[in-house]
Amino acid sequence: MTATAAPAQPPTPAAGGVMEGLHLFPERTHTAFPEPFAGKRPIAVIGAGFSGTIATLQLLRRLPEDQPVLLCERSADFARGVAYSTGEHEHLLNVRAANMSAISDERLHFEEWLKHRAAAAGGKLEGLYDTEAGLFASRGLYGTYLRSILDHAMRQTAGHAQLRLLPDEVTDVEPAPDGGFVLTCASGQRLEVAGIVLAVGNLPAEEGEDPRICSNAWDAKAWRSLDPNRPLMIVGTGLTMVDLVIGLRRRGFPGTIFALSRGGLLPMRHTASAAWPTPMLTIAEERSLPLLMARLRQEVEAAAEQGVDWRAVIDSMRPITASLWVRLPVAERRRFLRHVRRYWDVHRHRMAPPHADLIQTMIDDGSLRIVAGRISSMEKGANCVRVTYTPRTGGVSKVLDVQRVIKASGLEHISKTRDPLMQRLLDRGLVRMDPQGMGLDVTDGLNAVRADGEPAPRIWALGPIVRGVFWECVAVPDIRVQASHLAVSVVAWLREDAPRWSFAI
Ligand SMILES: Cc1cc2nc3c(=O)[nH]c(=O)nc-3n(C[C@H](O)[C@H](O)[C@H](O)COP(=O)(O)OP(=O)(O)OC[C@H]3O[C@@H](n4cnc5c(N)ncnc54)[C@H](O)[C@@H]3O)c2cc1C
Repeated sequence: MTATAAPAQPPTPAAGGVMEGLHLFPERTHTAFPEPFAGKRPIAVIGAGFSGTIATLQLLRRLPEDQPVLLCERSADFARGVAYSTGEHEHLLNVRAANMSAISDERLHFEEWLKHRAAAAGGKLEGLYDTEAGLFASRGLYGTYLRSILDHAMRQTAGHAQLRLLPDEVTDVEPAPDGGFVLTCASGQRLEVAGIVLAVGNLPAEEGEDPRICSNAWDAKAWRSLDPNRPLMIVGTGLTMVDLVIGLRRRGFPGTIFALSRGGLLPMRHTASAAWPTPMLTIAEERSLPLLMARLRQEVEAAAEQGVDWRAVIDSMRPITASLWVRLPVAERRRFLRHVRRYWDVHRHRMAPPHADLIQTMIDDGSLRIVAGRISSMEKGANCVRVTYTPRTGGVSKVLDVQRVIKASGLEHISKTRDPLMQRLLDRGLVRMDPQGMGLDVTDGLNAVRADGEPAPRIWALGPIVRGVFWECVAVPDIRVQASHLAVSVVAWLREDAPRWSFAI
């Protein structure tokens, strides 16, 4: 695929119809899929962030031209998703540009797009940072890249109308008698589809009753109408917290920010380092967390003796992390989540150097205070939220009165989700949660597993929602591979199933 340098303009969503300019459906409520798909029901991809957009692209590459794909997105912006919709150049990718191609078999795709785009902009491109640890792009620029990929796919398929965009929230999926599904959307329209791909991203943390406790760190409500003279608290000290702090600083919030997590650990900083080979693990190491951790320490020590940084060792694990997680017994996975995860996360998900510098400056001047502790209660105080926590070091509970609490820690257990689609899918038994409750259970071929333990032949899922099964599938380098596998899986199903099942309504 050729990257395009054309500036991406988000199309105007037409609520209840399919995206303007692309075979707009009349607004009506019915269960048969309308004309433009010529009687064939589409594969519906639900969610148009990175996962859904790139899964769509891979599907278009592999599916027959007459098999339509419907990309559904509830926000006004297709392709960028939560991570890449920021317009702020200060928000940097935490992975070097060299490893951010969206296409698994075109490793230079993003870098070439950047070059192309820089040339079109007269050689100077805003949002690019050449640091001592490599070239980092802004997340906004990356969002433009993703949008340009989708635009290109739309232009390429316009002739045969294979791709449609549906700007609507899918709130329910019901099985149809012949094996397909009927989608219900927030606008009220109902659509018949042949199969569904769940690309819904991370589900937000549980909602509280108090509007001053924001469960969705990406919702603008989280940082609107703040009193500059009173502190606020962010729950979580990972990259989402870093992002929020940078955004608050940019918007001129001068107050104190408390960032609290159980360990109070901050993401490490990226540095340049020579590579380290992926270790060949023994079967015993693959099955036991203590042995695995001991081996990791040995690798770090061996690397240090050769002047290679620990970061290279962590990065060397990446190609095998997913297969390692799959083989790790469930009890060991749970142990990892309880005891190791917080240390793994801060070493694995690192800050670009400009972010690390800013965070350190804010810690030094006291405007950002990192707190290690466990929250025991959050209560309504007089014009504040009263947060009581037990410090990690023990001792008596402490209290902080803050104007707002923003949860940047994600959903603890999928059973607590308030997301209507996920609740309905779980209630209907069309999907089930993974053994840790982090997200959905899927097969190796990314088919959802139903409540009865059988693979759902026409429901697939990818991205952060299946991290309980693969662990390492929340960042671009992993999701792009999943997107390609998923498309292969859909095509295989279509080939097997097509003779027995007609797409015609
Ligand atoms: C702040 C941040 C920074 C990151 N930085 C990097 C980085 O530098 N490098 C890297 O490799 N990875 C990074 N990641 C991780 C990774 O790239 C993202 O998690 C990835 O983009 C996930 O994409 P997604 O499409 O699965 O999820 P999302 O981006 O959350 O997209 C899901 C989409 O689905 C839509 N949706 C959900 N439910 C429905 C529904 N029922 N109906 C219709 N639409 C629905 C949502 O509106 C959303 O647009 C970052 C993540 C975050 C959050």
